[in-house]
Amino acid sequence: MKPAPFTYHDPATLDEAVALLGRLENARALAGGQSLMPMMNFRFVMPDHIVDLNAIEGLDSIRVQAQRLTFGAMARQRAIERSAAVHAACPIMTEALAHVGHRQTRNRGTIGGSLCHLDPAAELANLASLHDAVLTARSGAGSRTIAFTDFAQGYLTNALADGELLTAIEFDCWPAQHGYGFEEMARRRGDFAMTIVSALVLLDGAQRVERAAVCVSAVEAVPVRLTAVEKMLAGELPGADLYRAAGVEAEKLDAMEDAYVSARYRKHLARVLVYRALEKAVASARKRGHADA
Ligand code: FAD
Repeated sequence: MKPAPFTYHDPATLDEAVALLGRLENARALAGGQSLMPMMNFRFVMPDHIVDLNAIEGLDSIRVQAQRLTFGAMARQRAIERSAAVHAACPIMTEALAHVGHRQTRNRGTIGGSLCHLDPAAELANLASLHDAVLTARSGAGSRTIAFTDFAQGYLTNALADGELLTAIEFDCWPAQHGYGFEEMARRRGDFAMTIVSALVLLDGAQRVERAAVCVSAVEAVPVRLTAVEKMLAGELPGADLYRAAGVEAEKLDAMEDAYVSARYRKHLARVLVYRALEKAVASARKRGHADA
């Protein structure tokens, strides 16, 4: 299939791109094209105008300052994956990115495109939820920040208004001695996941859970933070019984169903992968905590 006819625009600056998106009807931004082009070829979307962001300088920055990661929307997934500074500050991101499609798609795909496309199985959307990311959007009316929980509105649906561009994404990193666990189940390496679970754990001096974050993707339409589990873990000495109880909570999710994966199987995967992700996160917290001691 080929896309429906469209007019191509190639702005050199962010202001130009914002002005184009503000005045053109039925326009879409083009980032890495790794989702937009297939969607257009299948005619799931038929924009009249494509505003290409690839020539705009400075939209692909990767900055690590103190405990904050700031990405320009056009930062390529592969550049983030290979960034030593990102790996040092947020190792789970490096691990998760290795699961995003293939090296070739990551060379072009961007963090902004992934978050705007909002596939339920997008690893970067899972991490944005896990870290309570804050997104910056720009339009002719100026800039605004959007908490990721408010940004992800539903299946492939984000909170950007017409004419708005996502320009930056901020992640607050956890203290250096935090532990992390990233688990996903996909039919083949590089396929979209059937279920994703990510976990961050911070242990206190008594090796009890000081803080935890757990996020499940590809079960509901948007990433889900298991806040009941996070509360259950706080203050506890982590171990198998706790991970099992956390898994039982995950099975309560309102799972999607499609021709390939039943809701029942997604819930089963959520239970198993929550156990594994927490076990991994606690083990790595113990190891990294000792390394920092
Ligand atoms: P594009 O495709 O260019 O755009 C995606 C959507 O976001 C479009 O609607 C576009 O208009 C909008 N958009 C993009 N940037 C902005 C912006 N700055 N402001 C406003 N709107 C914007 N992804 C995964 O997460 N996990 C996978 O396992 C995975 N496997 C894949 C396998 C294959 C074979 C392919 C081709 C893709 C796969 N992907 C996967 C998708 C890939 O990661 C895409 O890169 C990503 O979903 C979209 O990023 P992009 O930069 O290509 O955006």
